[in-house]
Amino acid sequence: MKLLQTPKGTDPIAVRKKLSDILRQAQNDSKPDSCILCGRKVTSFCNSHSVPQMVLKNIADNGKILQSNLLVGVEMLDIEKGINNSGTFHYICNDCDSKYFQDYENPDNLKSCPTDKMMAEIALKDSLIQLWKRMQEMEIFKKAKESGVYVNPSSYEYARKLDINENKEEIVFYKNIIENDIQNGFQILFWDVLPFKTHIAAETELALSEDLNGHQVNNLFDYRPDIRIQNMHLCVFPLENESVVLAFYHKRDKKYQALRHQFNSVSAEIVLKHLNWLIFKYSENYFISKDIRKLIEENEKLQELSQENAGYPNMGMVTPLTLLTGYQSVNQDEIPNFLSPNFESE
Ligand SMILES: [Zn+2]
Repeated sequence: MKLLQTPKGTDPIAVRKKLSDILRQAQNDSKPDSCILCGRKVTSFCNSHSVPQMVLKNIADNGKILQSNLLVGVEMLDIEKGINNSGTFHYICNDCDSKYFQDYENPDNLKSCPTDKMMAEIALKDSLIQLWKRMQEMEIFKKAKESGVYVNPSSYEYARKLDINENKEEIVFYKNIIENDIQNGFQILFWDVLPFKTHIAAETELALSEDLNGHQVNNLFDYRPDIRIQNMHLCVFPLENESVVLAFYHKRDKKYQALRHQFNSVSAEIVLKHLNWLIFKYSENYFISKDIRKLIEENEKLQELSQENAGYPNMGMVTPLTLLTGYQSVNQDEIPNFLSPNFESE
């Protein structure tokens, strides 16, 4: 099932071109004139990777990997890309890119218990990517507003501005931890080196709405400015013959305490199954090896889950039919667990 298909009677190549023009324009218009980390004026930004290149190359086939667009169902966007263009963002200078992520972008470091600095580096990068995406969404929104597409533009704009302010605050917060080597701030939810290479790679911040027992973590629809959305961070890094899975949060984000206790009281298999499900439910920042393309394309539940938004189907665009027939959110037992040894990659 595709969520956004090329409209009938239109030239698919022209539609793709138009869409990529809009996205490129939004990227240009949202570009700052200085590096967001060091403040130096720059004319060109680093081609930074959300999931480190040294991880992506482990699941690439001739340098190519599958994008989450394959599942999210936007037919007009590329589903296969080279490592160089996969999950990249252009928001910081080359110096900062080589300075701030050194500790975690290193396979040897990843195989030993993560330090506060490594987790701050991951959290900083996740916040940068979110900010970069949201600034572009704002540009696209401005254009849509001009053409009268949004029904209630002021509430959309208000919610996005709150998100953007939260991202900016996170960037300052995590940068400070890295620069001053501040200790004991993070809480690991799960960390393990799996003895096989996974088919998927991911690095993302997640704003969970529910914990393992279905209790609320964040109310994603609470737009009061004094309520900060709390994030956790999740990484799946396939290495040469192993994979590192890491989930953590900063201790100021207390809403994840219950999840930590729940994870501690169940087996690693159950935690991995849950983390696998969280990636597809909450994130778009994952990449897939071409080896499992057929399996992914044929799995309707996985597609449905990837297209959910806050538990509703079709990215939250609820139709009267959905309300009549009801929608059961896809649960973690209904999709393949790519973090289990059954999905070992060659
Ligand atoms: Zn910089």
